[in-house]
Amino acid sequence: MISKANLRKIVYRLKRLYPPIKTSLNYRNPFELLIATILSAQCTDARVNIVTKTLFKEYRTPEDFSSANTKKLKSIIRPTGYYHSKAKYIKEASKIIVRSFGSRVPDTMEGLLQLPGVGRKTANIILSVAYNKTEGIAVDTHVKRLSKRLGLTQSDNPDKIEEDLMTITPKALWNKIAILLILHGRNVCYARKPRCADCILNDVCPSAFSY
Ligand code: SF4
Repeated sequence: MISKANLRKIVYRLKRLYPPIKTSLNYRNPFELLIATILSAQCTDARVNIVTKTLFKEYRTPEDFSSANTKKLKSIIRPTGYYHSKAKYIKEASKIIVRSFGSRVPDTMEGLLQLPGVGRKTANIILSVAYNKTEGIAVDTHVKRLSKRLGLTQSDNPDKIEEDLMTITPKALWNKIAILLILHGRNVCYARKPRCADCILNDVCPSAFSY
């Protein structure tokens, strides 16, 4: 497992390399963020933003989405891919929000995990971005890959990786570390051919130059 000194170096250097940014998804309230996040699975944020521009004109509230014509909803969200399951998740989640949460997106991990299409990763995004709350660390494919390569975890299981990251990083850094690992995964530490020679972490990374 990584030493605290090396973890500090990783966080410090990545923070300097990637200054703060907000999510690139467009939304006006927690509900729109939820819908946009569901649509962003296996799709770029840019494409989701094009789709939600039309979508959020057509449907505004959880009530609108829960009673939406499924065929029409699917045709609007089709460019984001996996539109059959995404339409199902969106409608079901909207119904639960209306029925069980007074038409308001829940602001707890427990509440969010009751919504179809919402796993811990999406729930963490909603909590941190919409409600400025931190209950965990969103583990996506980049966080998973980099955590293992950097020696932050030994596991391949997202829940265990989250647990390991939460153990070794202070709570104040939970949101930050996920964002930093995602950005470094997108820009340098690629899945297939990581750019170790250009990487500012290659002196502290146990996997440097091993791919
Ligand atoms: S040194 Fe290589 S494997 Fe390690 S984080 Fe950098 S790019 Fe990834």
